[in-house]
Amino acid sequence: MSDTNWRLRGSCVTQRVDPDVMYPDSNAADEFLAKRICNGCPVSTDCFLDSIANRDWEGVRAEMTGKQRKDWFDQNHPDGKQARQRQVAA
Ligand code: SF4
Repeated sequence: MSDTNWRLRGSCVTQRVDPDVMYPDSNAADEFLAKRICNGCPVSTDCFLDSIANRDWEGVRAEMTGKQRKDWFDQNHPDGKQARQRQVAA
């Protein structure tokens, strides 16, 4: 079983943020608000890595939208589309 206690230390939890805030519609003001909550979160790295490990592209986590995390995954993770293409080309 993985240790998910870090979640309880997240700013979105300790500040009792309405979960809907972290799943903004795709408008810049709502995304900005969610990212501000993540800014300075003490478990941002855990949150980001959990998102990558679980291929979770929903909502804002670690100051990144789901699309931004998915793009990071595609470019940097060994299983990412662009990373695999680079391996084939090398
Ligand atoms: S990084 Fe953002 S979404 Fe993740 S735990 Fe912290 S405040 Fe919540």
